[in-house]
Amino acid sequence: MTLKQALGHARRFLAENNIEDSLLESEILLRHTLKISRVQLYLDRDRELSPKQEKGLRHLIKRRLSGEPTAYITGHREFYGLDFYVNHHVLIPRPESELLVEQALKLAQNDNLSTIADIGTGCGAIAISLALNLPQLRIYATDISTPALEVARLNCQKHGVADRICLLEGDMLTPLPEPVDLIVANLPYVREAELAKVNSAGFESSLALNGGRDGLAKIRRLCQQVRGKTGITTYLILEIGQGQAAAVTSLLRRLFPDGKIEVMPDLGGVERVVSLQLEKNTRLLLNYSLGLVSVSRAID
Ligand code: GLN
Repeated sequence: MTLKQALGHARRFLAENNIEDSLLESEILLRHTLKISRVQLYLDRDRELSPKQEKGLRHLIKRRLSGEPTAYITGHREFYGLDFYVNHHVLIPRPESELLVEQALKLAQNDNLSTIADIGTGCGAIAISLALNLPQLRIYATDISTPALEVARLNCQKHGVADRICLLEGDMLTPLPEPVDLIVANLPYVREAELAKVNSAGFESSLALNGGRDGLAKIRRLCQQVRGKTGITTYLILEIGQGQAAAVTSLLRRLFPDGKIEVMPDLGGVERVVSLQLEKNTRLLLNYSLGLVSVSRAID
């Protein structure tokens, strides 16, 4: 069987089993089997696959048809033009989260910020995309999951930012050693009842998706932590799920009556990102407690 024929077979199998983007996915699986680039795949279309390669491809297609996402099969996913290592301990980065990165970049550049924290960093895609585009910034990335932070560590090394991103294990803001200018977070926001729909074959970590009964349990907790640590930040940028904008904006309005709130739609028109700007002049003195250490800092 030639590469071209193998691609055709793989594509048909995936399409017949209702896998969207069957062309793209079959290409990725074939390239992963042969360890070749996209260009090589098209240049060598008439090359014959060895029996071992055919068997390898069949095995990958079988895994895909069992519901395993292609990104976990190959161990890679592209996000913001960068390649990230992923495994089942982390959420597979979604294209809509690029909006979160764009919004954070815009604010960081316009307002000349110096520190950012990515809360619930997972594979580190958001923190690393920011670090590579904001070379002057100090970046913290926290996660409650030890194996997720291991994946983030590998990605930091892969992208040469291990010395610029400080990875911290712990519950949301708790491990942060200092106030930051901007907090960005793609927390789990899927409603418990819809978890099975999003993660039908159960391959993705439910820790990374499950947002409790109304999907907002984690977002609510982060907002409350920000509220509890008055003055910890100027900007809070959250990714949210479809239909959650009204609940999240009213939560923010209640917790931060003086904050400026903005909601942004993704490319599919879904309200996807909520950003909160806190008044700088209400942050004249920060009281930020870290365990036994209490730091008071004057700003602005
Ligand atoms: N966007 C993901 C989905 O709907 C969920 C990501 C998240 O919970 N942060 O599949």
